[in-house]
Amino acid sequence: MGSDCLFCRIVAGEIPATVVRETATTLAFRDIDPKAPVHVLVIPKEHYADVATLGQGDPALAGELLATAAAVAEDEGLLGDGFRLMFNTGAYGGQEVFHVHAHVLGGAPLGPMLC
Ligand code: 5GP
Repeated sequence: MGSDCLFCRIVAGEIPATVVRETATTLAFRDIDPKAPVHVLVIPKEHYADVATLGQGDPALAGELLATAAAVAEDEGLLGDGFRLMFNTGAYGGQEVFHVHAHVLGGAPLGPMLC
């Protein structure tokens, strides 16, 4: 999608981000406005608007996204106490950035719903 998409611009290096993990196909970086002690966003480098279009369009890439999210959770020390992995999807789902991203949230008890 390119210049109109915030997260494509992060992938391109045009907007700075605190990257915590990168693979050939995915990028993980800290959320600019963290909602938990650990709040990392995991995205595919290729543009898909949301998790539904990613899951239907490229299931293998969706799996790579989950593998990166799990690796981030391990790196951040979240596997013992647990963490939340979520995809806000569409207007009713509260999605604000329309480049699919998994939120990896943890580091404290999160309660029934966070954001
Ligand atoms: P959504 O509501 O779309 O699921 O979540 C979008 C997330 O992107 C929010 O948690 C927001 O704080 C984060 N965000 C928005 N703009 C930026 C940015 O420029 N850099 C980073 N690192 N995160 C951003």
